[in-house]
Amino acid sequence: MPKSTKATPVVADDRPSMPTDPPVVLEVLGVTKNYSDATVLADASFEVHAGETVSILGPSGAGKSTLLRTINHLEKPDSGVVCLNGELLGYEVRGDHLAELPARTIARQRRSIGMVFQDFNLFPHMSVLQNVMEGPVHVMGIDRDEARRRALDELTSVGLRAKAAAKVSDLSGGQQQRVAIARALVTRPDVMLLDEPTSALDPEMVDEVLQVIKSLTGGGMTMLIVTHEIRFARDVSDRIIFMDQGRIREIGTPEQLFTNARDERARAFFAKATQ
Ligand code: ADP
Repeated sequence: MPKSTKATPVVADDRPSMPTDPPVVLEVLGVTKNYSDATVLADASFEVHAGETVSILGPSGAGKSTLLRTINHLEKPDSGVVCLNGELLGYEVRGDHLAELPARTIARQRRSIGMVFQDFNLFPHMSVLQNVMEGPVHVMGIDRDEARRRALDELTSVGLRAKAAAKVSDLSGGQQQRVAIARALVTRPDVMLLDEPTSALDPEMVDEVLQVIKSLTGGGMTMLIVTHEIRFARDVSDRIIFMDQGRIREIGTPEQLFTNARDERARAFFAKATQ
């Protein structure tokens, strides 16, 4: 059960807070995660504002995926909390402690979060359309005609309307990931979490998926992306979080981190990445 903690990021985001800033959608406060006796995520704190695209970069094993999975409550934090639109995720305050919410309530909360995984997580035996309709029909209880309409709209937006009737296993990896993005979007989430969305793809399929993700950044979607596509992150992100060894070492604009990082490890990482 997590303790409520008041945490200060290792390196604070020095972007001044503007009165006109869009509202905070996602708030991560002092989140820590241990596996056995190893701390893989230490005291992570940051906010994501409505419409922002924030990329999480850093070497392998830095804790980036663990951070995303903890936000979605796929992993329970050992301390710290996550709030979505001001609502505590996974827990409720009971007296002086936090109690885990029932699975049903957590499932309801997760509907506000669209998750895209490295390995797509689609149902391979079902059609593309069935995969995208699944959430609206079975999780949200939307009637089938409306769910179909929404699913076809999202498939159009990822360029796969023509593949609606195809079986998922007949699609390429890049197409499957675009279906997974449509499936995440169709429930109209408040935030999208993308966990290395192009890492499992053959190189020639990476671009089509990055283009779809890029198209979302201009459309007001709030996104948190773990990626090794450094140039892409620089191009599309409003802010970048740099992590190393389980800690957020620096948060800033792409310009700050790529050209003027204050953290020594961040400087080394971005210097090497842009060689
Ligand atoms: P990244 O996404 O930055 O590559 P991860 O979050 O996947 O890093 O992993 C951070 C560290 O946590 C790694 O050392 C990894 O081996 C460890 N780890 C991740 N998941 C588990 C798990 N379920 N059990 C034990 N260790 C884990």
